[in-house]
Amino acid sequence: MWQQNHLPHALLICGQEGTGGLPLAFALSQYLLCSNKSDTDSCGVCPNCQKIAKLEHADVHLSFPSIKPNPHSKVLSSNYFKEFRTYTLANPYGTAFDWLQYINAENKQGNISADECRAIIESLSLKSYEGGKKILIIWRPEFLGKEGNILLKLIEEPPSETLIILVAESTEEILPTILSRIQAIKLPPIKASEIAESLIKQYNCEPHRANQMARLAEGSFTAALQLLHEEDNDLFPHARNLFNLLFTNNGIGLSKFSEEMSKLGREQQKNFLHYIIHLLQTTLKQHFTGQCNLANEELVFVQKLSATALRFETISQLIDEIAKTSYHIQRNSSSKMQLHALCIKMMYAIQNKKVSSLVQ
Ligand SMILES: [Zn+2]
Repeated sequence: MWQQNHLPHALLICGQEGTGGLPLAFALSQYLLCSNKSDTDSCGVCPNCQKIAKLEHADVHLSFPSIKPNPHSKVLSSNYFKEFRTYTLANPYGTAFDWLQYINAENKQGNISADECRAIIESLSLKSYEGGKKILIIWRPEFLGKEGNILLKLIEEPPSETLIILVAESTEEILPTILSRIQAIKLPPIKASEIAESLIKQYNCEPHRANQMARLAEGSFTAALQLLHEEDNDLFPHARNLFNLLFTNNGIGLSKFSEEMSKLGREQQKNFLHYIIHLLQTTLKQHFTGQCNLANEELVFVQKLSATALRFETISQLIDEIAKTSYHIQRNSSSKMQLHALCIKMMYAIQNKKVSSLVQ
């Protein structure tokens, strides 16, 4: 857009959690303010680049959800600039939820207040410090609610040499009056291969595990990092164990398995369940298309499972039961009971298949 002179004065970057809207907004700001940019990137070393890299550039204004630091103060981003810098530099793919936890919002709802909107208008009315462009980044305009109306005029007609960048995860909670005044760019989910590459290069992750986590992350780098930070995240041995028990009708083993699994954290249980759903879906795909994007032991597993002639309906039934269990566990049901019930249902579904195939 910039190269073709089509950069609008107000831009909405919109992509699901973990697709990097905020780091993209920082990179774009750095590129625009860089005093020695190339056709494709900022130089990274000029004073402007260095200040933006530390989020300390006086012409890059930041606005984000926050809370009252004490009962008598207003909800203003300026109360939390220091924390925001520290948090986003360490977690460029962080979520608004984690950010609000970081500033101890606990169960207080964060927002971007009417006072904050007025502070934005005031600070953008000032001259730029460095004599160049001014940029305003509003992270998660969903938190504006109807206070967004205060910004309509600013978004429609910003002061000269000013760019407004809104970084959102969804347009549903943004006022239509704002959406109609702004040019939107949609961020696609990140490709699994790119997530895996980054996990290997930047986090020294072993390739097999990096690929496993990248596929589970479903396009979100945030989700991939969460998986990475959980211990014992090679889920395959657990899955192989579960299916061995299921296919040998080992009731005692399954009861033990669900008990062990219930001792893990809820997030890990959920990840495991999503992982087996993923394996079953891949089995179906492999069965119908002959294609499979897995490798090594996971590939062998899926090929074996596909060769057991489990019927399409049985696999769908299994996926359905696992998804239901994940839903209940997420809502704080006793995971031990849920997992045990799931194992019984899965064993039954698989046995049923054997019975019906005998009848046929
Ligand atoms: Zn530069």
